[in-house]
Amino acid sequence: MATFRIDHLGIAVRDLQQARLFYELLGMRVGPEEVVEREQARTTMIDVGESRIELLEPLTEESTIGRFLDRRGEGLHHLALHVDDIADVFSEMKAAGMRLVSDELGIGAGGQLYFFVHPSSTGGVLIEICQSADALQNADAVVG
Ligand code: ZN
Repeated sequence: MATFRIDHLGIAVRDLQQARLFYELLGMRVGPEEVVEREQARTTMIDVGESRIELLEPLTEESTIGRFLDRRGEGLHHLALHVDDIADVFSEMKAAGMRLVSDELGIGAGGQLYFFVHPSSTGGVLIEICQSADALQNADAVVG
């Protein structure tokens, strides 16, 4: 039986250095910053129990986050669900005709695999499906 959890909430910000101050003031641990080339974004993760908050700052105006900020301003950008079998979920979504934002799995911050499902297929929320690098190693261990 697959287990699911909210992996993280992605928040688009103009200035990561500025945005992280709020969480630091709360006493939360803000992780190291990482550049995700494919998304042209600088990101950091903040641990919230089993879940996390991801702050995303665009590196370019034309990036996904840059365009989002132009249209909507800062705010909640996506919801990420963690799955144990991302390759299977990806092909099932594709077969079911869900509108996926890209044609293949991407490798994100911390080496996790991910893909996005367009809001038009999910009731208006951009959904990221992801699987952590840890979970992938565990899956390999089970198979091997
Ligand atoms: Zn994310």
